[in-house]
Amino acid sequence: MLIKNQIYEALITDYTAEGQGVAKVEGCAVFIPNAIAGERVRVRIEKAQKTWAAGKIVEILEKSPHRVNRECPISASCGGCDFWHMDYDEETRLKADRVRQCLNRLGGENLESLPILAAPTCYGYRNKAQYPVAVKKNRAYAGFFRAGTHDVVENNRCLILPEDTDRVKDTVMDYVNQFRVTVYDEVNHKGLLRHIYVRRGAVSGQILVCLAVNGNRIPKPEALIERLKAIPGFTTLVLSVNTKKGNAVLGDEFITLYGPGFIEDTLCGLNFRLSPRSFYQVNHHQAQRLYEAAISQAQITKSDTVLDLYCGVGTITLAMASAAGKVIGVEVIPQAVEDARDNAKRNGIENAEFFCGDAGQAALELEKQGIQADVVVVDPPRKGLNADTIEALHRFSPRRIVYVSCDPATLARDVALLKERGYVLQNALAADLFPRCAHVESIVCLTKPY
Ligand code: SAH
Repeated sequence: MLIKNQIYEALITDYTAEGQGVAKVEGCAVFIPNAIAGERVRVRIEKAQKTWAAGKIVEILEKSPHRVNRECPISASCGGCDFWHMDYDEETRLKADRVRQCLNRLGGENLESLPILAAPTCYGYRNKAQYPVAVKKNRAYAGFFRAGTHDVVENNRCLILPEDTDRVKDTVMDYVNQFRVTVYDEVNHKGLLRHIYVRRGAVSGQILVCLAVNGNRIPKPEALIERLKAIPGFTTLVLSVNTKKGNAVLGDEFITLYGPGFIEDTLCGLNFRLSPRSFYQVNHHQAQRLYEAAISQAQITKSDTVLDLYCGVGTITLAMASAAGKVIGVEVIPQAVEDARDNAKRNGIENAEFFCGDAGQAALELEKQGIQADVVVVDPPRKGLNADTIEALHRFSPRRIVYVSCDPATLARDVALLKERGYVLQNALAADLFPRCAHVESIVCLTKPY
């Protein structure tokens, strides 16, 4: 066991899922933030357990050629991004390698390399922001949580957001300070404003402003609306009533104060309506490339029925509709299903059907009704597929399964389960939808040899 507060020399050999450096010291794995593979460092141990420890760099003895000066001045304390200390080559290398290692270790594969769709830009790509708010010295401000805490680090200009998004945040905060709107305090469960949520259509430029509030009204809404109207693209202002304790940003009730309550955007040549509660990938350019990869891997023919589980507002479902005989989407959030049905209509798509419910349960139900699925697309949240969904895939026995994933560890676990049911991995690709952040998206295709 390593000794707390003692300094050790360490060679960084790998990264954790959160993007921290990993070193082996005296047989113990040490996790070190802001470290780059290949670097030799002196590390002070801050937490020591039997098999692992956590430490901080006190000196870099051999610096990686991939180390760069941080462009974002607050990135060392803000918990939003993870990789401003390294160049983008190293970031994409480690992301591709993470997906590869997961598929090898947990998915029983033996991949020597894995391609990644690198992003053309690390700046201004993020089309959604959620700013928590706080008060200091009688002044309210917004920013992002410090990593692992609920302290709000003020952020004047976030490099991964479009400027308009920060302008919305500043406009809301000016209004908050002028009209003395109270800020939510999670300890006492008192105060009104919890989060500022902004979503911007990358192609349409339309902006949705949603204020998550511990209540159901805000003072002088017309004063805020007047100011927001000065921002080009401002389309709608919505309150999300969230009076519950806990970390969820949005509540279940939405009150539209201005505009239609949703925005529109164009993706893969289709027009989409997006409600605040509905999921929509934040990196438009890279999402489009990811969906193009999904379409090409699915190899759909005109007689196919395609089932899209975890379909959100129907992005992938509808992008596949013209190639298929029929497409069926399943999604658990009712607003997203309403959006998806509306999206089929707005694009004149008549061979799409959407069901609201748990993916696994709905899929089992569809299978019981005698629906056949030739190709199944799954795009689950981080926890991956549940037992029902795996069972439904087994029963449907589709020719191809296209699995889009935001967590390579659960993806690899599920790949192993599908391999036990006769599938083989055809191809795997990582995609960088979150430059400068540790999350990595990936897509694999599984087929069933007959
Ligand atoms: N494929 C879509 C959405 C992917 S995000 C897109 O790319 O835009 C994952 C989606 O799964 C979210 O919309 C989430 O609301 C939904 N979801 C989460 N748990 C679910 C469950 N148990 N059953 C069905 N859908 C679920």
